[in-house]
Amino acid sequence: MISDLNSITSNLSKRMSKSAIRELLKLTKRKDIISFAGGLPAPDSFPVNQVKELSNLVLEEEGTIALQYGLTEGDDLLREELVKRYKKEGASLEKENLVITTSSQQALDFLGKIFLNPKDKVVVGLPSYLGALQAFGVYGPEFVGISFDESGMRSDVLEEKLSEMKKNGEKPKFIYIIPDFQNPAGITMPEKRRLEIIEIAKKYEVLIVEDSPYRELRFEGKSQKTMFQLDNEGNVITLGTFSKIFAPGFRIGWVLANEEIIDKFVTIKQSSDLCTSPFVQKIAAKYIEKGYFDENLKKIISMYKEKRDIMLNALKEFMPKEVSWTLPEGGLFLFVTLPNNMDARELFDVAIKKNVAFVIGEIFHCDGSGKNTIRLYFSFASKEDNKEGIKRLASAIKEML
Ligand code: PMP
Repeated sequence: MISDLNSITSNLSKRMSKSAIRELLKLTKRKDIISFAGGLPAPDSFPVNQVKELSNLVLEEEGTIALQYGLTEGDDLLREELVKRYKKEGASLEKENLVITTSSQQALDFLGKIFLNPKDKVVVGLPSYLGALQAFGVYGPEFVGISFDESGMRSDVLEEKLSEMKKNGEKPKFIYIIPDFQNPAGITMPEKRRLEIIEIAKKYEVLIVEDSPYRELRFEGKSQKTMFQLDNEGNVITLGTFSKIFAPGFRIGWVLANEEIIDKFVTIKQSSDLCTSPFVQKIAAKYIEKGYFDENLKKIISMYKEKRDIMLNALKEFMPKEVSWTLPEGGLFLFVTLPNNMDARELFDVAIKKNVAFVIGEIFHCDGSGKNTIRLYFSFASKEDNKEGIKRLASAIKEML
């Protein structure tokens, strides 16, 4: 037995940390706690019977192919179905612009593998998805945080930072953006802001990574064009996933990019996991082809909208006036700003005693700011618990005040 394992582990593995959210997810298992913490879709949104039917169909029609290794690029039918959906919206792309990944988290890791050396700069939002900060963080970059307004990442601050960096002979490897129902802020970037950021990225010759797992979960308002479609010059890499619109257990995502970049993803994927499960991809392809995807999406959207409304109403009813929150037009969560001097970590301890959990907002800020913010998922708790949980949380906040 090796006495000091850390003496032989790599620098890369030393940079890895356990996700605070994964640890918090353990709390969701406690029956007495109402959890707004972990990013779990509603279990009753999963189409179990349809997956059963399609699994049988795939095994009957092409069982030996489904159980064999598949192409690294992904299943042909699935790629075609996904490309068709983007084309229908007006994006210009072909199958060669899309590679299937083992969900978006793998794509985030591959971005790090492909682009990042230690000390490289990566531009991220303040706040930004923790899983991306961790995935990139393994490769040792330095994060440049850009503050938000009600339209998401501020383009004026971005331009200022890039210009400052240019003067110092520096350039970030990419700008990481979640334009739709941003995790954790719940904000959607309007087209004007998307175009401004695309222009700035072009001017400073920086790639944009558009991570968009929630885009199709729109309850109201106008759907925004993807940055991939708006750019159309190959400067945007877009990540998609079935996790929030079908089933996270499928672990299927995809990357859209210019062919040169897709080729890098395919090469990395070959050495990482050879391919994403062909069996699961074939079920997913049939799920879209047969129209189940669109049919169920409508149901999921109305289920989440109802839950969001219950949470928004409860916030209005129970929260003290010093507390504010975002009004997401879709997605699974919203972001709450506590009074200036309130520490969300301290609130967490008080809230847990009242059997309600959330995620502290600070972990989404690469610069350690956001101490008075929290993220609340409305998707997982039942309708009754959504209201009761907010009532408990409000009582914890009042106690702190
Ligand atoms: N990106 C964002 C912004 C996310 O919120 C998530 C999951 N919560 C992911 C990527 C990863 O999703 P998955 O690996 O399940 O596709």
